[in-house]
Amino acid sequence: MAKVAFLGLGVMGYPMAAHLKAKGGHDVTVYNRTAAKAQAWVAQHQGRSAPTPKAAAEGQDFVMTCVGNDDDLRQVTLGREGAFAGMRKGAVFVDHTTASAEIARELYAEAKKRGFDFIDAPVSGGQAGAENGVLTVMCGGDAEPYGRAEKVIAAYARMCKLLGPAGAGQLTKMVNQICIAGLVQGLAEGIHFAKKAGLDVQAVIETISKGAAQSWQMENRYQTMAAGKFDFGFAVDWMRKDLAICAGEARKNGASLPVAALVDQFYAEVQKMGGRRWDTSSLIARLDR
Ligand code: NAP
Repeated sequence: MAKVAFLGLGVMGYPMAAHLKAKGGHDVTVYNRTAAKAQAWVAQHQGRSAPTPKAAAEGQDFVMTCVGNDDDLRQVTLGREGAFAGMRKGAVFVDHTTASAEIARELYAEAKKRGFDFIDAPVSGGQAGAENGVLTVMCGGDAEPYGRAEKVIAAYARMCKLLGPAGAGQLTKMVNQICIAGLVQGLAEGIHFAKKAGLDVQAVIETISKGAAQSWQMENRYQTMAAGKFDFGFAVDWMRKDLAICAGEARKNGASLPVAALVDQFYAEVQKMGGRRWDTSSLIARLDR
């Protein structure tokens, strides 16, 4: 059992913090900017809440966070009353936000200077993965603190791996998003074509999902895509944030991402259609309109 704080009780953080307590058996303190959510969490899970990130971080062995983007992360760590001012020497800060590799490296260096460790650890698996405690966690940082953190992360992970130095977790998450972007557009075009061709979409997918076209997106999303239902999991706004991070990194490392860039523009059209909070499978909506 460890002393653990969790900062950011959003769609992902709220259930992740709950697993730390229920499954991990840890002594958990939570912080959320909107205090009502932290109060609701404490009422439900009997932990403790703290009024600021700094207060939440004080005296903890591990501090985990899952907030929106680079700016949010900077505020929660280095801002006024930020967590880094409360971290004890030898503790480990684990960040689950999907953010840039740059900020991961910056916070890693700042943590080292202050005598504690930093692991970038973005996740994949969505809301359902967080609620069921089966997330995939992609980590960057040093092996020794990673080894300690992995045992705590296990409360909500099915797969957790150290992929390299600081920033490697965020770079791996970028690969994940690049792979998904083109795939979802391909699936959207396939279903759109099947409809136009007068085929029975269900029969088509049941058949081709047993062959080389099979994918997680195909098996889990084709029915809702065909029905025009987009209220599952990962929002278009979040995906555009992630694709912007990928594009920024590609500009630096020279990678060519023409399909991801095009799909990003398609998501911009979906946003204009009112789909900012629709899930990422809504690419089909701009074909079917
Ligand atoms: P969310 O529901 O919008 O929650 C965001 C959390 O961050 C909230 O607790 C929010 O506090 C807090 N926050 C934001 N800005 C803050 C700031 N400046 N200072 C303090 N707290 C701040 O988001 P989410 O869906 O949990 O996603 C969180 C991260 O996980 C994102 O980076 C996202 O890309 C990534 N992710 C999400 C999914 C998914 O399916 N949702 C899947 C994989 C990865 P308030 O309650 O006060 O707003």
